[in-house]
Amino acid sequence: MTMIGLEIHCQLTNLNSKLFCSCKANYREFKINENICPVCMGLPGSLPRLNQEAVKKATMIAMALNCTIPEKIAFFRKNYFYPDSPKNFQITQLNIYGDTSVGGTGSVMIGDKKIRITRIQLEEDPGRLIYDGSSSKNQITLVDYNRAGTPLVEIVTEPDFETPHEVRDFLNILSNILTNLGVADPSLEGAMRADANISIEGGKKVEIKNIGSFHDLEKAVHFEIIRQDSLHSRNIEIIQETRHWDDRRKITVSSRSKEEDLDYRYFLEGDIPWVKIDPEIQKKLKTEMPESISSKKARYISKYNIPAQVADVLSSDKYYSDLFEDAYTESNAKEVANIITTELMGLVDTREKREVSKFTSVHLRDLADAIQSGKVSRNSSKNALHEILKSGKDLSTVISELDLGNVSDESELSRIIAQIISEEPQAVEQSKSNSQTINYLVGKVMQKTKGKADPVLTLDILKKQIGI
Ligand SMILES: [Zn+2]
Repeated sequence: MTMIGLEIHCQLTNLNSKLFCSCKANYREFKINENICPVCMGLPGSLPRLNQEAVKKATMIAMALNCTIPEKIAFFRKNYFYPDSPKNFQITQLNIYGDTSVGGTGSVMIGDKKIRITRIQLEEDPGRLIYDGSSSKNQITLVDYNRAGTPLVEIVTEPDFETPHEVRDFLNILSNILTNLGVADPSLEGAMRADANISIEGGKKVEIKNIGSFHDLEKAVHFEIIRQDSLHSRNIEIIQETRHWDDRRKITVSSRSKEEDLDYRYFLEGDIPWVKIDPEIQKKLKTEMPESISSKKARYISKYNIPAQVADVLSSDKYYSDLFEDAYTESNAKEVANIITTELMGLVDTREKREVSKFTSVHLRDLADAIQSGKVSRNSSKNALHEILKSGKDLSTVISELDLGNVSDESELSRIIAQIISEEPQAVEQSKSNSQTINYLVGKVMQKTKGKADPVLTLDILKKQIGI
């Protein structure tokens, strides 16, 4: 049996400052080494001060992942010497005095399978190493401390995964939950990093460290299982070691094990007092948390009669569910959901496309209403959608500029229908006894109007002219 466990590091977003000082949390907006101060640089005499908002957001994550919430939380120093850590220690959390990290045991369901969460901890991110130099002789390493001290949440799972597929499903569900909470942005470069522990039957545990994206994590796990299976089948011992994911070659490579064999000499961070998380705070946080994905899904099904599968995809992605919430009315909810899941999802499926898209919830509402009222056909609505995404013009402008509107002028339609009736005497005769034949005639009208005839009106006039 294959056993896979994950440790996921996730940056908290929408915070004003770093975890222990007033430097900005959005370090990406600064020039190199501009977003630093004595506290995050660990200069003598500086004192950390805990960002309460970060504690709040991390606790929300713990609640959303069904974790136990401790009565009080504590911070520890993890000592290590490495250029990305200016203080030579990282302030993190640990459960050596009972449960004192932001989240205790919890769980996430992927389909029918329960993935157990071991704990969730709040800690600071180290700085960033930049490898520079044009030739191998001239290789230099630079360090940018702008990121040092920004808030990070680590989510540790039990080794409950058995396949790379389960890992991927879990990561998708997790990133949807975090995005829905508004506390993280997994689509942002470097916002999520992970370690994976993998062992197969009879083998030792192998750890793959610091994988930069969810996509690579799945590939790394897949590769590692094949590598270990291959060793096992040749009776070669699988040794306990740390490996790295080589993004370029798409393989895992062994790290020198001595380098990883560190003793962190953890001890309590005496500069930060323990923080009480009393039931009142928890209750208040619950009321501040956005509606959960599962609750949204249930509401879409029961209130708007949206099919379960459509409700599932719609509620999972915050971008689409926000659009839906802003656009729907009592009468057009199903049509709005339909446009999002059948058309829009294929057109704005990446962060970049969403950023350049000029499409708004007003466009969405107008489009759904126009389809429902017969102003535009479902087919033409696709062209309108493409144009709106590009230009951001309002729907009525797009319809008239591209001539997408349905032919709903009664005299115009009557004239076309009269012509078809004279061309198709046999079908007209048949339609009097066989109700299916009328569809053939509607099809002829659509052909002539390039699909733009108002279908309801067409049928009406046809019946009237034939006398059925
Ligand atoms: Zn600072």
